[in-house]
Amino acid sequence: MVKGRIFSGMQPSGKFHLGNYLGALENWVKLQKDYECFFSIVDWHALTSSYEDTSKLQQNIFNMALDWLSAGLDPEHNVIFVQSHVKEHAELHLLLSMMTPLSWLERVPTYKDKIQQLGNQGKDINTYGFMGYPELMTADILLYKADTVPVGEDQLPHLELSREIARRFNHMYKPIFPEPNSFLSKAPLLPGIDGRKMSKSYGNEIPFAASPDELRAKVRQMITDPQRVKKSDPGNPDVCTVYTFHKIFSPDELESIGTACRQATIGCVECKKRLAERMVTALADIHTRRIALEANPGRVKEILEYGAERARAVAAATMAEVRQVMNLS
Ligand code: SF4
Repeated sequence: MVKGRIFSGMQPSGKFHLGNYLGALENWVKLQKDYECFFSIVDWHALTSSYEDTSKLQQNIFNMALDWLSAGLDPEHNVIFVQSHVKEHAELHLLLSMMTPLSWLERVPTYKDKIQQLGNQGKDINTYGFMGYPELMTADILLYKADTVPVGEDQLPHLELSREIARRFNHMYKPIFPEPNSFLSKAPLLPGIDGRKMSKSYGNEIPFAASPDELRAKVRQMITDPQRVKKSDPGNPDVCTVYTFHKIFSPDELESIGTACRQATIGCVECKKRLAERMVTALADIHTRRIALEANPGRVKEILEYGAERARAVAAATMAEVRQVMNLS
């Protein structure tokens, strides 16, 4: 029996890495067993902060679909689609924007921070579209009457806003929308190969699409305990990036690796080799699926078209209701 209906989306930014997989996508793969899921590649959201150069957008959408499908999202069981293929998202966004006080959007805690942060990188996102980002997110969720939204802690204020907008709509017209609940997931935080936060802008990421040989090369470059110069020096695994990865990929061996490191009975080269093979094994099925899908891009396109068709059917029914209660039909 399904526990409820989920909507969740990701921006096709072309930066999908292993940290993103463990932070969100792996969780989706688990959730698909218990929920009816709508997973959307939210390309319009990508434009809210990257509107100037859209030349890579289609390639990024395709790559994101590959990431999702190779990770194990089932396109029959879930509705997997591209946001802009379902125009009802734009219509509901517009109608909700009529009744949302500007002050609600201005007070979203990340709003001003993000403008400043991206402004420092030379990006001007002081735009109508960027301010409306949480409004568009609300439209995405309400269009499918999703009752559950998997979010990270940083997105909780956005979801609270969605709940307020749904409440206002229900009160003003007719109660047709459920107030979406958050599903907080605890994901392991994976550092980049230099120990800082994993991010493409630092150049320290491990691409989710990395082949086994690329994975091995990335592990070889990982920063270890800087105090451990020779193999005979005892190491401190608690300050080692390799060990942080072992926590995720080698939990059964963790204690023995930690002890061997502290007693200098294992060298960093050997330790890295073990990690690399663990990662290659853990990601082998994903890699195999990706190769098969890459060889058949037409199949990926078909899956997205099929998903959009199914999403449109639900979205059209919701919009018929919305138009009726707002006297627009
Ligand atoms: Fe890190 Fe392993 Fe080297 Fe210890 S032996 S410092 S855990 S890479």
